[in-house]
Amino acid sequence: MKIQSNQNQLEKGKLLNHTQNTVLTDSLNLIKVVSISDYRGYLNGEWQIYSVIPTPYKEDIEKVVKCIVNDYEVEILPGGRLTSTVTKFKKRIDKELQNIVEMIDDKEFTIAVKFQPGKLPIVVSLNPEINYDTYPSHPHINPGVQKGFEFDNLCIAKKLSDINGSFDKIEDNLMFQILLWLFRHQVYEIYLDLYSKVNWIGNESNEHFLDLFYPTLLNPYGRCRCGAKTSYQNCCLKDDIPPLSRFNLDRAINSYLLRKEKNSYMQQIFKENF
Ligand SMILES: [Zn+2]
Repeated sequence: MKIQSNQNQLEKGKLLNHTQNTVLTDSLNLIKVVSISDYRGYLNGEWQIYSVIPTPYKEDIEKVVKCIVNDYEVEILPGGRLTSTVTKFKKRIDKELQNIVEMIDDKEFTIAVKFQPGKLPIVVSLNPEINYDTYPSHPHINPGVQKGFEFDNLCIAKKLSDINGSFDKIEDNLMFQILLWLFRHQVYEIYLDLYSKVNWIGNESNEHFLDLFYPTLLNPYGRCRCGAKTSYQNCCLKDDIPPLSRFNLDRAINSYLLRKEKNSYMQQIFKENF
């Protein structure tokens, strides 16, 4: 896989002007467009593969984090980096988050996006791989067991009407939401490493709407979903199984293995198409 970066050619400080005809999706580094027809139709369609760095420039990181926490509008630079011009904030950030801000480094993501008219896009992070195997505690992944999906993908919004943005093109507003998600993921990841805590900054912070699915999603021998450094089997699994009276450990493991197979199959299909 080859990733070219066009970030250096971009002028720092030049905001995308939302009222002009600037197109965000065109200014990102699009690696490839692939048409896939496979896997019982779930991957069917045209996928755009992007290489993106959502990370704000060093001097903007704190402002952007504060904007997200305060639910203020975040801006974007051509190429996809988040930024902000806000200087006054209502809510301050705590010491933990302040420490995290200082640890954030540029992170490049390779993502595959399938835009679908009238629907939310399906977004898969190929590098790094983001799914319930790699991030068992993640509060914003659509699981492969939910109706309509056969593999884990990024939960960028609940419904299309939740996407608001000031770009003319819906794809740009969706991409803006994806970049915001990826940056929030960066913060979540450092939180987890540093404090063994699950924390998704901003609105819809730490939803746990999937409790019922956990036993079928998570590796019993992998790290627990709560962020603790113990295995899921020895930690929260026993609390997750009782609500599902029909479940037992064997069945949970079988469902987990099936979903894991779907995820790796899907990753493989994309890698073959790079
Ligand atoms: Zn646990």
